[in-house]
Amino acid sequence: MRLQEYDINNRYNARVVSTERITREESPEEVRELILEVADGSYNVKVGQNIGVLAPGQKEFGQESHFRLYSVADLPEKTDQGQLQIRICVRRCNYIDEFSGEEYKGVASNYLCDLRADDTLTLTGPYGHAFQPPAEPEASLILIGAGTGIAPFRAFIKHLYQNIPDYKGRVRLFHGGRTGLELLYMNDRRNDFARYYDEETFEAIAALSSRPHWSDMIDWGHAMESRGKELWEMLSDAKTHVYVAGLEIIRDELDAVFARIAGSAERWKQLKTEMEADQRWIELLY
Ligand SMILES: Cc1cc2nc3c(=O)[nH]c(=O)nc-3n(C[C@H](O)[C@H](O)[C@H](O)COP(=O)(O)OP(=O)(O)OC[C@H]3O[C@@H](n4cnc5c(N)ncnc54)[C@H](O)[C@@H]3O)c2cc1C
Repeated sequence: MRLQEYDINNRYNARVVSTERITREESPEEVRELILEVADGSYNVKVGQNIGVLAPGQKEFGQESHFRLYSVADLPEKTDQGQLQIRICVRRCNYIDEFSGEEYKGVASNYLCDLRADDTLTLTGPYGHAFQPPAEPEASLILIGAGTGIAPFRAFIKHLYQNIPDYKGRVRLFHGGRTGLELLYMNDRRNDFARYYDEETFEAIAALSSRPHWSDMIDWGHAMESRGKELWEMLSDAKTHVYVAGLEIIRDELDAVFARIAGSAERWKQLKTEMEADQRWIELLY
């Protein structure tokens, strides 16, 4: 769905409770985690959904605001006063214009990354379907989060282990950055997933770029094919669900990797089509 097609009429005021850089200072990538508080009790978000943000535009050019989507990055919480707190993680985007060579700032990501505690902003939504855990408690999950695509899985994994006590399925989380410095939530300061390592069923596997200094892409092939046997065994089970989140470009790359794991592109295409039809292949790509 195109951004212009979203309904942005229901608007909610939010306050920035806190903003924190979660990539290390040495990393060229700036990703910040923002906690936003919404007073209006009718606003509610679920794991797997996205919130809308209206970044102020230039009214004189007829652009009142710029609408963008951000994934809910943790389980929403209510304060003692009943206010909803939502976490999002935002990558500061800058672009080099191909013709002029000049650098342009991404409108909404820079607006959000520059906000400070107690600043206010306008939210819309929420949008999208919540990530539904499989109905069978023994169903396995393959979760693939590239860059900020890790955000919804942070919330989803917490949801599984905190709220579904009889969940027994195997969970394999593949998460990627170009260098270890970019691995959101997995650095020393924010070793979020570590608390799930004592869950026998859980494992997080990092996919990095093989040559980070050359700006190479994340090497999903290496990370996933080294686990190819296990992945194929999981995929062959008609209960297994796959969730993929992050930038759209990952789609083709994953198809190529899974085709190699499956033994042929046709075999993979057939299996993926079956999973999509059963709603066991879920994508949140942007
Ligand atoms: C469902 C969904 C969930 C999302 N979740 C997250 C999330 O959790 N975290 C997150 O950080 N982002 C997320 N995004 C992406 C986010 O919505 C924004 O697209 C992103 O922050 C960039 O917005 P921006 O306004 O900063 O950049 P924009 O100004 O909108 O620029 C975005 C695009 O415009 C192009 N562009 C802009 N300026 C130039 C230029 N000068 N030269 C060449 N090309 C240019 C680039 O190709 C770029 O892709 C999500 C998107 C979707 C659809």
